[in-house]
Amino acid sequence: MSPPARRESLAQLEALIAALKAKGIVSEEELAARQASTDRASPETGARMVARAWLDPEYRALLLRDGAQAAERMGVSMAGAPPLGVLEDTAARHHLVVCTLCSCYPRAVLGYPPHWYKSFAYRSRAVRDPRGVLAEWGTVLPEGMEIRVVDSTADYRWMVLPMRPAGTEGWSEDQLAAIVTRDALVGVALPQQPAAAAA
Ligand code: FE
Repeated sequence: MSPPARRESLAQLEALIAALKAKGIVSEEELAARQASTDRASPETGARMVARAWLDPEYRALLLRDGAQAAERMGVSMAGAPPLGVLEDTAARHHLVVCTLCSCYPRAVLGYPPHWYKSFAYRSRAVRDPRGVLAEWGTVLPEGMEIRVVDSTADYRWMVLPMRPAGTEGWSEDQLAAIVTRDALVGVALPQQPAAAAA
């Protein structure tokens, strides 16, 4: 963004915040609280939710039914946050999350989105050529596997529940959470079984 464009969008943002405050829709305190909770959020929360779902069928069902409630179960406040949907990968279908419009992202459970997620290149190419985008991440899926690209929006945020890698039988929640990366929670990567731990 050029400096004049950046100044203009900052001015628009300030005007929007002033209007929301004037109408009593949002207060300074609510804005500060929301920013603080995003500052505290990290993909470790999403990773723990996935690890727990791999181990606990009851939690898995809750996660797929109502992601926000499943996040609250982890101690994350979802008050004021958009609903969270969770997309279950299977042997036949892989999910890839994008916000084609801007940068909608489940910040409550993943923290701030990475720079590439907000790029025009990712937002356009994820839709046009998901298989090509995934290959650039080193994620090569079997020929016949369907790739479903899902649009995160202001109304609904998405995260992926990847498949549990083979060879992780008997692993603890901590061990499992450690192999679920931020990129796997968006669907550009798959959880990898560390070679050392496989021995
Ligand atoms: Fe967006």
